[in-house]
Amino acid sequence: MSNQAKERINTYEVAKKRLQKATEELALPASVYERLKDCDRVVEAALPVEMDGGTLRVFKGYRAQHNNVFGPYKGGVRFHPEVDLDEAKALSIWMTIKCAVARVPYGGGKGAVACDPLQMSAGEIERLSRQYIRAMAPVLGPHKDIPAPDVNTNAQVMAWMTDEYCNIQGYDALGVITGKPLEMGGSAGRETATGQGVMFSVREAAKIKGLDLKNATLAVQGYGNVGSATARFLAREGCKLIAVADIFGGVYDQDGLDAEALYRYCREKGTVKDFPGSKDSITTEELFALDCDIIVPAAMENQITPQVAQNIKAKIIGEGANGPTTPEADEILQEKDIFVVPDILANSGGVVTSYFEWVQNNYSYYWTAEEVAKRLELKMVEAFNHVYDYQRNFGKSITMREAAFMYALQRLADAMKIRGWIR
Ligand code: GLU
Repeated sequence: MSNQAKERINTYEVAKKRLQKATEELALPASVYERLKDCDRVVEAALPVEMDGGTLRVFKGYRAQHNNVFGPYKGGVRFHPEVDLDEAKALSIWMTIKCAVARVPYGGGKGAVACDPLQMSAGEIERLSRQYIRAMAPVLGPHKDIPAPDVNTNAQVMAWMTDEYCNIQGYDALGVITGKPLEMGGSAGRETATGQGVMFSVREAAKIKGLDLKNATLAVQGYGNVGSATARFLAREGCKLIAVADIFGGVYDQDGLDAEALYRYCREKGTVKDFPGSKDSITTEELFALDCDIIVPAAMENQITPQVAQNIKAKIIGEGANGPTTPEADEILQEKDIFVVPDILANSGGVVTSYFEWVQNNYSYYWTAEEVAKRLELKMVEAFNHVYDYQRNFGKSITMREAAFMYALQRLADAMKIRGWIR
């Protein structure tokens, strides 16, 4: 997808449109939309960082706090050259809805820093991460706003951020950030939780579609934390991984790629491109048009446009990324009877396991990997069934995404009403 095409779509406008449609569909008072279309608070900060060469660069950092009726604001921080405040706002709305769908006691937030971490040294990234926390510390806290990893940030970045926050406060506050390394209060299973959750939700969708995961063909777009884990978890369920594409290139083999070998290769090379176990190369456009059963978009927003949707032949789309499908593309996928497990449901395993991590931090009592995985499966299946039941019982034909939005919005409206936030 070209950047040009991405620029034409403002994700914040998309988020508001989806909110408005769900409010109208539910005949909720206009005050619900009025309250949710804007964030409670946004912070934009200048982040001065000394670069390795001795020069000073000032980066822009954002934190959008959307709504906290269910608990502290919650959501990742992404490092990406093209982020802006509107993107952070849109993604914070997504988090409010996601947490309401998953029934975890959080609101929605999102952070972003406009930078290109692929061009930065570890030292520069550390200094930037610490500056971000210095700027945002007044609005963060284990019971206020809890960041986590997102695009191009990871457990190491969370360790620097948590350390900085604890230094500023002068006391241990591990619950301020989730997605931390195991060595400093992270949870077993958090790193792969989003991908594992995508697997559980695709598995449930496959049952409905009557699709046997054994030998079902799978294509994955994006091979970061979410794409790589999803590919491996679904391969362990028996899926045949036939194509993967990342920003550098794509690999394809109709007979199936070795998901574990591909993972090891990518860890070493930083890309799936030129993986020796692949028969052919493939572009992102070709990947979406493949004759396969399951597609997992796990890269950025607005990748499945109407043009892309026209060519999709898959039976199930499990959205690992946030906002990968445009509203117009949704209509095409619905007409084609493709089962879309929407982002706010499919990728909620990340924030669900963040919740588990935070609970463990609050108790200073830690669970085994098996315990975390079991609880994650229960939460994912429960959320899937809530949304699926809602969709079936709504009375008219709606998509799983619309059902998820409406299910969440009704819960949010009820809670806001009882607290006196809306009339
Ligand atoms: N960044 C992830 C998401 O978009 C995880 C958020 C979290 O764990 O707070 O859902």
